[in-house]
Amino acid sequence: MEDRSQTRRDFMKMMSMGAMAALSLGSLSCTQARVEAFLQKHFREMTEAEKKEAIRRLEETYFRKYGKKFHISTQPADAAVLWGYGLDLSRCIGCRRCVYACVKENNQSRINPQLQWIRVVRLKDGSLINLENTEHYYNPEKVPEPGFQYMPVQCQHCENPPCVRVCPVHATWKEPDGIVVVDYNWCIGCRYCIAACPYKGRVFNWGEPNIPPEELNTEVHYLGNRPRMKNVVEKCTFCIQRVRNGRYPACVEACPTGARKFGNLLDPDSEIRYIIENKRVFRLKEDLNTEPKFYYFFSA
Ligand code: SF4
Ligand code: SF4
Repeated sequence: MEDRSQTRRDFMKMMSMGAMAALSLGSLSCTQARVEAFLQKHFREMTEAEKKEAIRRLEETYFRKYGKKFHISTQPADAAVLWGYGLDLSRCIGCRRCVYACVKENNQSRINPQLQWIRVVRLKDGSLINLENTEHYYNPEKVPEPGFQYMPVQCQHCENPPCVRVCPVHATWKEPDGIVVVDYNWCIGCRYCIAACPYKGRVFNWGEPNIPPEELNTEVHYLGNRPRMKNVVEKCTFCIQRVRNGRYPACVEACPTGARKFGNLLDPDSEIRYIIENKRVFRLKEDLNTEPKFYYFFSA
C-alpha cells in the first residue's frame, strides 16, 4: 500500500509553507485512486455512501497489493454495550500464546518492523511493577519459570484516554462502546499519542509492514485489523472486528489457562461484572485518572 501518512505530512508541510498555490492535482504523481484516497474525509465525518466508496477503494487496493479479497466491516458500536477486560494474574503462565494469536488475527507486521500489541512482562517475584523498564522478549524452555511472575499489558481502553487528547488531527478517539480506535488514513504519524500513553499501549510502523500473504486475515474492520501502512500508529482494539460480531477477542480464545476474561460492563449478569464485584481488582496507574477498562485480579 502507498505511504499515505507520509504523503499527508508532505502535503501539510507544503500548505504551511504557503506553497498551496503551486500545487495542482495534476502535478501530483498519484494515480486517481491515490488522489481520491488522499482527499478522503475523516471516518467520523463520512456519510454512509462515502464510507461505502472508501471501502470499495480500499478493497481494490488490498486486492492489487495482496491478491486477496478482503471483507472490510464498518459495523458501528451497539449502544447497550461498554466493553471491559479482566486478567487473572494468578493464572497467567507467561506462554505468550495471546501475543501470537493477536499478531495473526490483527495482521501485525512480523519482521522489520516486528510489531506486537500485547507485551507479556516478566517480573521477578517481589519486584515492583515497572512498565518503563521491563522484559517481554524472554524465551525460556518451559513456562512458568520459578521465581517469576507474568503480567500481560496492552491498550487499556481508558475511559479518559490521554492519547486521544494529544492527537493534533483527531485521528484517534473513543467509540461509544468504549473501544479506543485509530483512523489509519487520517494519522499523520507524529507519535504524540505514543508519548502520551502511560501503558506503552501503542506501536509505530517505522517501515512497510511485512505479513506473509498466506497468513493474512482478510476478515477485517476499518477501525481495526485491516492492513496498515508505513508511518502510522496502531494498537489493540479489543478485536473490534470480532467483538462487534458476537465473538471473543483472539487473545481470550487463545489463552490455555483461562486467565483472560471479556464482556459487557453494562450487563449485570456478565462475567466481567461478576469479577469486578466479587474479586479484589486493580487497574494500572489509577492515580493518573485514565480510568482503564482493563481490570487485573488474582483468583487464587
Ligand atoms: S492505554 Fe494508552 S493507547 Fe490505550 S486508551 Fe489508554 S492512553 Fe490511549
Ligand atoms: S483483544 Fe484482540 S487486539 Fe486486543 S490484545 Fe487481545 S487479541 Fe490483540
